[in-house]
Amino acid sequence: MIDINKVRDDFPILFRKVYNKPLIYFDNAATTQKPKCVVDKIEEMYYTLNANIHRGVHYLSQQATDEHEAARVTIQKFIGAKSSNEIVFTRGTTESINLIASTYCRAFCQPDDEIIVSTMEHHSNIVPWQLQEEITGVKLRVIPINDKGELIIEEFEKLINPRTKLVSITHISNALGTINDIEEIIKIAHKNDVPVLIDAAQSVQHLPVDVQKLDCDFLVFSAHKVYGPTGIGILYGKEEWLNKLPPYHGGGEMIANVSFEKTTFNDLPYKFEAGTPDFVGSTAMAAAIDYITDIGLDNIVKYEHELLEYATEQLLKIDGLTIYGTSANKSSVVSFLVKDIHHYDMGMLLDKMGIAVRTGHHCAQPLMNRMNVDGTVRASFSFYNTKEEIDQLITGINRVVTMF
Ligand code: PMP
Repeated sequence: MIDINKVRDDFPILFRKVYNKPLIYFDNAATTQKPKCVVDKIEEMYYTLNANIHRGVHYLSQQATDEHEAARVTIQKFIGAKSSNEIVFTRGTTESINLIASTYCRAFCQPDDEIIVSTMEHHSNIVPWQLQEEITGVKLRVIPINDKGELIIEEFEKLINPRTKLVSITHISNALGTINDIEEIIKIAHKNDVPVLIDAAQSVQHLPVDVQKLDCDFLVFSAHKVYGPTGIGILYGKEEWLNKLPPYHGGGEMIANVSFEKTTFNDLPYKFEAGTPDFVGSTAMAAAIDYITDIGLDNIVKYEHELLEYATEQLLKIDGLTIYGTSANKSSVVSFLVKDIHHYDMGMLLDKMGIAVRTGHHCAQPLMNRMNVDGTVRASFSFYNTKEEIDQLITGINRVVTMF
């Protein structure tokens, strides 16, 4: 069970006011707030352990290196990877997908080979592949969704053909909250010898994810959505795949030997980590992961589901409110519009009441087009939110409705 008062005490920002109203933070799908232990870790690293890692013989450098590598192991265990060599630190989900799009297409794709994504992808799982359309001539194929915002699996099966080279798909939609049946997608893809990349930006903070059980080939996520710092994230890849891919960025760390005649590259995971690593970010990320592991992902799943059900029930009582994304299997995200009130107006007026929601296309314009809207209001809940805060949201929406 979640001890809500204790949990909220860990997040000082939840006690601040905006416009002299207590902050109600419902923009967790964009970024999560940080518990004290994460900020403390950043401070500790800079105040007591700051030294460039991997290349120093001195004590401080070695200690910082040990912390950074221990963080890698924390993340390995968190997602159930076989080896810490399979955990590459990147700047986040976006960079991880760009890394795979660039190196995979370069190594394995010919013009007219196909990459499958879905209608509900975040732009960061669309645009890197479109860049590759221009560079390597691959073509994007798109799994359609139904009106509830669920993938149509039969259509996915029809899209796979001998030219299909990779499936890159989100685990959970940031805009609708749909939890996709990625187990099934991976099974179908693997039956056809096609590897699968999972965009887990919206999932690892909400439900247990085990890459070995899933058998996905790549999985990516960002620390800042998992209660960790901004600017760092993860690329998981099966060792056999990562070994086959060429380097992405060139520079220090990623080399074995450099000469003007021939440069050779470092082993995994360093082959993909050019430049000074973000050892402050990695250790703070590990602190965040330890924090949610202590709370327990099973407890988080249960509590956030209660919040989702409560919010859905209360929202649907509002006359003229439509929820976008009505899959039976959803994470704690509710996207909605009320009558013809523009999402931006709703968001601005709620903000004046201290309620932070997101409005707009949520970096998923093709999905918005499919749903025939140009944007929605999105409330996304974390385990530090409460039903009382949801009541405030409902009161707020009703007030906005009376203003129009
Ligand atoms: N994919 C999904 C599903 C997301 O929700 C996001 C962030 N909104 C991203 C990718 C991109 O993450 P980042 O901006 O941290 O790289």
